[in-house]
This record gives sequence, C-alpha cells and structure tokens, in this order.
Amino acid sequence: MLLNFAQILQDDLIAPIVWKTAYGLATTCILGAAVYIGYRVGTPEKYQDRQHQNPELNNQIKKVIDSLKITDDQLIDIMQILEEEMNIGLSPLTHRQTSVKMFPSYVRNIPNGTEIGQVLALDLGGTNFRVLLVDLHGDSTVELTSKIFVIPQSIMIGDGKYLFHHLAECLHEFMEKKHLLNTGICYPLGFTFSFPCQQDGLASARLTTWTKGFNCSGVVNEDVVKLLQDAIDEKHINAKCVALVNDTVGTLMSCAYKDPSTTIGLILGTGTNACYIESLDKVGTWNDNYDEPKQVIINTEWGAFGDNGCLNFIRTKYDIEIDVSSFNPGKQIFEKMISGMYMGEIVRLIILDLVQQELIFLGHRDTYRDYTIPLYTPGNFHTKFVSIVEVDEGIKFSNTCRVLENLGIENPTYSDCAIVRYICRQVSQRAARLVAAGLAVLINRIEKPHVTVGVDGSLYRHHPRFKYNMERCMKTLVNEDFQFTLTLSDDGSGQGAAMVACVADASSCKETFMCMR
Ligand code: ADP
Ligand code: MG
Repeated sequence: MLLNFAQILQDDLIAPIVWKTAYGLATTCILGAAVYIGYRVGTPEKYQDRQHQNPELNNQIKKVIDSLKITDDQLIDIMQILEEEMNIGLSPLTHRQTSVKMFPSYVRNIPNGTEIGQVLALDLGGTNFRVLLVDLHGDSTVELTSKIFVIPQSIMIGDGKYLFHHLAECLHEFMEKKHLLNTGICYPLGFTFSFPCQQDGLASARLTTWTKGFNCSGVVNEDVVKLLQDAIDEKHINAKCVALVNDTVGTLMSCAYKDPSTTIGLILGTGTNACYIESLDKVGTWNDNYDEPKQVIINTEWGAFGDNGCLNFIRTKYDIEIDVSSFNPGKQIFEKMISGMYMGEIVRLIILDLVQQELIFLGHRDTYRDYTIPLYTPGNFHTKFVSIVEVDEGIKFSNTCRVLENLGIENPTYSDCAIVRYICRQVSQRAARLVAAGLAVLINRIEKPHVTVGVDGSLYRHHPRFKYNMERCMKTLVNEDFQFTLTLSDDGSGQGAAMVACVADASSCKETFMCMR
C-alpha cells in the first residue's frame, strides 16, 4: 500500500498535482493558525467560546434586548389606555389632563379629486422644509414642483422671528424661480406645520409646545399663521396663508384625493403622529358649527402619549436615557420610542451597554477605551443605518460591516454584525408594534368595513420591514370585521396642505379663484 502510494507520487503526471495540493493545505493550515493566534491574542479568553454564538442564544445579550420586547397582552393594555386617553382628550372637562390632546383640525371636507387650482404650500416637518407648487387638475391627478431648503440649527433654536423670516425668504426664492412673483395673482398658501397646535380655525393656530429639536423663542402660545403672514407681507410676497394643517392632516387629504376610503393619516418621520376622521357628536371640545358634514379631522398628537406616566410599564433604561438627554425631557414619550429622530440613538445606547458589559466587539478591546471613535458620539448611529443594517439577510453582513466600520469598528466579526442586526430588528420591531397598536385603536373606533391609512415620512418609506411588521401586528389587533390598507403618500403632507387651502374651506376657495382670475 505504502509502496503503491510512493509509486503514484513518482508518477510524472500525478506528482505535481499531489505536491500542489499538499502545499496548498500546508499554507492554509499555517495561515489558519496565524489567524487563530491573532484572534486569541485580540479576544479576552473568557469570551472566546461565545464569539460565534447566535445573539438570540446568548443569554446575557438576550436579557439586554428582551427588555425591549412588548408582549401581545401588553399591546392590548396599551390600546385600552390610548383609547381612554383619547376619550379624555375629546371631553372639554378632562381635556387638560390627557397626554393625547386630540386637537380638532377644522378640516371637515375631504377632497373628491375634482378640485382644480394652483396653490402654494410650505411643509415644515422637523428635518425637512419644502416649498411646493401644486396644480390640482380636477381629475384626481396633481402636478407638483417642490424644492427642499435647509433650516440651519441656529435658526431651529434661535429667535422665532428669524425662523419665519427664513421661511418667507425660501418662499420668495422659490416663487422667483417659478416666475410667480408680481403676477397680479395672490396665491393661496397652505402651511404644513407639524408641531402641536391648538387651532381656533383653519387659519389660526397657537403652538402649544415645540418638539423634534425645535426650540425657537417667542412662538409658543402665538398664532403661527399670523407670524408667517407677517413675514410674507414684510417681503411683499403675493401669497396668503389660508390654512394651517398638521402633516398628518395633509397626508390624509392628499391620499383621500386619490382614494376616498382614506380615513387616517399617519406620520413616521422625524416624529410620529396620526389623525383620523371623527364624528362631531364624539368631539366634546368642538366649538364651531354643526353643519354638514358632521365630522372633523382630529389631530391626535399621539407622540405625547405617555407624557403623564401611563406608558412607564414598557419603558426601558434606554428610553429613559434618551428622554433625559433630550431638550424636552418628559415630553413626547411615545414618539421617543418610535420615530426617526430617536431610533438610531436607542440602537447606539444598547450597543454601548453591550460594549460596557463586554458582550460585543470582543476583538476590539481598545474600542472599549477609545472614546474618540464615532460610536461614542450621541446621534452618530443615524436611523437610516437601522434600515441599512436590516437590509442584510441571512449570514451576509456587508451592509452591517460598512455601517460599523463607519462608526470606527474596524473589521467587525460575524458575531458583532449578527448582534447589531439583532438589536436593530428588535428596536424597529418594537416601534412598528407600538404604531400598529395605535392604528388598531383608530380603525376599531372608526368602525368602517374598509379603511385606508395614508402614510408619509422617511422612516416608513425607507425602512425595509416597518410596513411588514406593522401589518403583521395590526392583523392580530384590528377587529376582524374591519379591513385596512396602508398606502404610502409621497410628499403627501405638503400636497395635502395645498388641497386644504383650496378645498376644506369653501369660502376661501372661492376667494382663491376670484383672486386668481
Ligand atoms: P420630516 O419629519 O421633516 O417631514 P422625513 O419624513 O424625511 O422628514 O423624516 C426624517 C427622519 O427620517 C429623520 O429622523 C431620519 O432619521 C429618518 N430617516 C431618513 N432616512 C431614513 C432611512 N433610510 N431609514 C430610516 N429612517 C430614515
Ligand atoms: Mg414630513
């Protein structure tokens, strides 16, 4: 046998192949040994066995991340509490005590697609500011041109008058480019202002509090329509703000233009909020006429749900940390567990907790002490990273690697990536389930056989699983007699404001056309 093998080795044809294979195997072994030695040197010994474990199977990691899990029973409790808070918000006697303010929007007519006109809109969302020109064609189609402008951080937290001057300046620049200035036409303008406002009419709204990183002085309790119009007039711009709408309302309106079964508007962007069409007889706080249609869109302002402590039973230490270090502690508790402004930061805090417990980045001991790496800076794990990480499927982690390398973690291991993806999935899934519970309350309340929910916002638009996770959870929470559809409304919040400006108030609409002729 041995002889035969030696003979084979001496065979002119086979020998080079055998030697090459042996050489290859030897090289692989040497390289493998070198990597293994490097790995042992770089990894604390007590953790070496854990390196390749599935994060879900590692009890310590699971324990940390399980604190985020909300059970189905807890979701049902949350729905009951939200329903109660909503009812308290709609009653004039108890309105002040609720965390869910349920502001009547004064928008009562829903567009039916036949509306015609050329209308301007401003959409101040929290991250983006857009100026839009909307052409309603009257056949359920619209033509839209828009431009995004930046709101500098100094303006976001400066004197309110500079904010409104800036908005007017952007409007002026846009109208100049579109040749709309000095045309002899006074264009109607809808203002999407996505901050909590107590409205007294369609074109009168007092800001109750700033949210989403804005904190301009001299605006709270003031009429923001007046502040905007004053800035527009000061620049002699031929536009009149005839309606202020919340972005949820704008979204509902723009979806309803194409699909009349739209009854709910939802925002999942910098912040989160929802509105829905409510019967006037359920709105105890209604102080206007009871003409037809006997309904009004209610802006729930559900981002503040939990501000009175009613959601404390599901909050984690990460939620508390986010809140404490925010500029508005104690406020927007529901929003802080869900929206784009906070989601990436929750992930970052959990990663840092795992770093401190030496459960992640084990081959990067220096990382533990290197506080200059980007991962240690608040806000550096952008919410869009959560989307990018979650695009990774199976055992391929090319996106996750890229994100981690961006944050200063060189050559993350397979396990590091698996853990980070697991965290992202749990944080975004929790958010989707909370939104699902909120929508289920609204759909069960509306009691229509089929409801379309118009949704706007970059979190919903770009996250690869948010819609799927919401739908899956909603199917278990919505009464089985009711069907629902979630529809993405591109630029809906701004378009809708233009529609409200043209439609919701019939008298201003007539004025508009008179003004335009
Ligand atoms: P606004 O709230 O001003 O109307 P958007 O709807 O664009 O603006 O939402 C901005 C928010 O969306 C930001 O908080 C940002 O973190 C988040 N976001 C942007 N891109 C993505 C993405 N790819 N995946 C998830 N969230 C995103
Ligand atoms: Mg928006």
